[in-house]
Amino acid sequence: MSLTVLMNAGPWLSVPPPGYGGIENVVATLVPELRRLGVRVVLATVDSSSLPVDEKFSVFQDGQFHALQRPYNQVCGISQAHLNGVVRLLHSRDDIDLVHDHVEAVGLATLAAMGPDAPPALHTLHWDLAKHPALYGNLDGGDRVRVNGVSAAQLARAPQALRDHSVGHVHLSTPLAVDAHRRPPVDKGDYVIILGRINPGKGQDLGARLARRVGVPLVLAGPVGPYHRPEDLAAAGDEARQNPDVRFFHDEVAPHVDGDLVRWVGTVAGQERDDLLAGARASLFPLRWEEPGGTAVVESLAVGTPVVATARGCLPELIEHGRTGLLTTDEDELGDLLLAASVLEPGECRHEAAARFTPAMMAQRYVQLYDRVRQLTAARRLQPV
Ligand code: UDP
Repeated sequence: MSLTVLMNAGPWLSVPPPGYGGIENVVATLVPELRRLGVRVVLATVDSSSLPVDEKFSVFQDGQFHALQRPYNQVCGISQAHLNGVVRLLHSRDDIDLVHDHVEAVGLATLAAMGPDAPPALHTLHWDLAKHPALYGNLDGGDRVRVNGVSAAQLARAPQALRDHSVGHVHLSTPLAVDAHRRPPVDKGDYVIILGRINPGKGQDLGARLARRVGVPLVLAGPVGPYHRPEDLAAAGDEARQNPDVRFFHDEVAPHVDGDLVRWVGTVAGQERDDLLAGARASLFPLRWEEPGGTAVVESLAVGTPVVATARGCLPELIEHGRTGLLTTDEDELGDLLLAASVLEPGECRHEAAARFTPAMMAQRYVQLYDRVRQLTAARRLQPV
């Protein structure tokens, strides 16, 4: 009998995403592999998503990412409306064997509150688990809701109540890792890249200062809050400063962006993104937070670009210092490591991606976790009350 999974990707971006979108990229990588393994996938997403699935369910026509960083009282109804639709869908049918949820906080809370008759659920934690202590520190999944992390380092930071619900971690994957070791080498440019949303935790301000200090050209690629292109941010005017990432960019990053040594190119997508990443001598992660899963780290390895990073979060788990990247706990040392990165071998990075981060490996691991979650729920249901 084939398994039917309701994959809840949430209301923020379409799947696959138009450019930026870590969770949506992971869902877009996982779903085709699950279907190849015979899993039926009902995708709860926005209607403009184009990923082939067995069924699509949506509340919103388009991704609501533009609203994500508005004040809470203006934005909280969006994820709630999406989840409300998902709950009604689950109540209306009996063929969903398991829910695989990716919606921060509200997905977990809603599924846990659904009661014993709802399907078993696996909620993937894509976030820093020091967040949401009131929820994570008191979680009661009713023996039906389990969680998984995206790295061991991330789960190690979780409060005990959340860890009690964990069935382990699954590293993130990217289609770029498939046969990455067979890909011909790419001519490297002289620049380094930071790929990701522009945010204090990702440390673009530090990266820009370091690049200027050591004289290495730096490309910043990614959105600033909801703004994907420099011209859109410029046109938005002062009102845009309500957004904390816009304030961070204007105050801490933009003073170093000279359009020459340090450039912000906005969000890059598709082949343009892959080529820009593959052509960099290194990708830089000057982190100020515990990076939970590192989609962009795995993508960098897959295209043969060594990683230079602060040794925080999942970085020591994903990167082997001296072989696939250079790590340090000392921010100041990052500049020297940028200069040293060209001694690392791009082929080693591609091999690592092909050996550890393929979509097929991620999907097989999730199928194991789906079985485990269903067994745990079934065992509990058989217990006498
Ligand atoms: N990304 C992209 N274009 C950009 C910036 C980022 O396609 O200009 C993608 C990137 O390739 C990765 C995701 O967005 O797949 C960002 O994921 P990451 O885990 O690094 O960041 P987070 O999810 O923490 O924002």
